[in-house]
Amino acid sequence: MRSWLGALLAALVVTSACAAPERTVVAQAARPERTVVAQAARPERTVVVVLFDGFAPAELDAARPTPNFDRMKREGAWSRHLVPAFPTISLINHTTYETGCWPAHHGIMSNYFYDPVRGAFDEHNPTVGDADWHTGCEAMWEAAERQGVKTAVLNWVGRWSTTRGQLSTFANANVPWAMRESDDAIVSKAVKMLHDTSANHPRLIALYFDIPDHVAHEDGVAGPRTGEAVRRTDRIVGKLMAAIRSMPKGREGTLVVGTDHGMMDIGPLINVGRLMNLYGIKGREASDGASTIFYLDKGESADRVQKALSAYSQYFTVYKRGHYPSFVHWGDGPRAGDLLLIAKPPYWVVGGGQMPAWAHWLGVTHFWPVVFTPPVGGIKATHGYDPAVVQMHGIFYAWGAGVAPGREIKRLDMVDIHPTVMSLLGLQPGRPVDGKPLSLSP
Ligand SMILES: [Zn+2]
Repeated sequence: MRSWLGALLAALVVTSACAAPERTVVAQAARPERTVVAQAARPERTVVVVLFDGFAPAELDAARPTPNFDRMKREGAWSRHLVPAFPTISLINHTTYETGCWPAHHGIMSNYFYDPVRGAFDEHNPTVGDADWHTGCEAMWEAAERQGVKTAVLNWVGRWSTTRGQLSTFANANVPWAMRESDDAIVSKAVKMLHDTSANHPRLIALYFDIPDHVAHEDGVAGPRTGEAVRRTDRIVGKLMAAIRSMPKGREGTLVVGTDHGMMDIGPLINVGRLMNLYGIKGREASDGASTIFYLDKGESADRVQKALSAYSQYFTVYKRGHYPSFVHWGDGPRAGDLLLIAKPPYWVVGGGQMPAWAHWLGVTHFWPVVFTPPVGGIKATHGYDPAVVQMHGIFYAWGAGVAPGREIKRLDMVDIHPTVMSLLGLQPGRPVDGKPLSLSP
């Protein structure tokens, strides 16, 4: 999610069941007959939850061989239609995945938005991972810890809070994204935790990886480098499956693998900075992927702006607050803005604020067309469209304890993952929750 902009700008310059605590065999004397009933021991369950960024089924199809995903499909549950929240981009969906809430309840609207008190939420801002941006709902690790279960969260947003500190028993350091632990390092830590026989081991392990997203932005859905990134995800899955199969006696594990959104190859971009200047729109915009939120200044007319931009209906649609489409689960708080622009595939948006000074010197937001294809380079694929666009759907797999083999799930919503993970752990979901647990058990 983080590096596609660099590529674009380079182009512009040229132009359970309670998994209760281990239940030991208990012998009970049945009073009348004095017979002995033995209850079977139930293993203690750990759930490993993985979030791979930007993983469309088409990327997996193009990247074969992927033997570990194939095995998860044979032996577990799977879907090609994990439907993201709108906009179908990263940070809103990381938060929806971890909380099981729509953005109206967790508060993260997009990768960029404005809050009247906290200011700009921006994916390049080091505070975006701060759980204090949330306006409600509990991440799966918060809900589990509240119920007395130890959790580990590695490289995932929302594991830290400025006011409450670390939100899980184990978390890696709250450092800028560029200084994070490597993918190999967090997989090694997870494997160690699965084999840890001390009383302190976590029962929920959540891991985030930024592949294949940032590679696919530059290389396309079926590009060779995207294929290599997908095969890396397959090797990560293979290591976690092997670690689960070799867990200590009396314990069992489940692996849940999902993504935040899909990916599709794209065409020309919509130059939102140019629109702001061309029509003298007074206010600010927050653009990413395929949508722009407009926050208008006092005195600016939403009707005027909507009418002016209606000339571009072949590229995008503009909605007024109060009339946002039903798939936009934003509520009506101030973060939702005054107008919402949604691009139609294959067009995508770039805001003036995302362009560096030299792009402004070249007059990109003053003289360049509203819609253009960067003459050289640029990005090849992106996401952010209406969740009904099937290429925005992502992969989902569940495998291991509590999961029946070979079951295809036709469709699930991003809000369903949190309650499903909590159900596999034998715990209650967070408070509140919007999704429903999937039925995965044999
Ligand atoms: Zn992305």
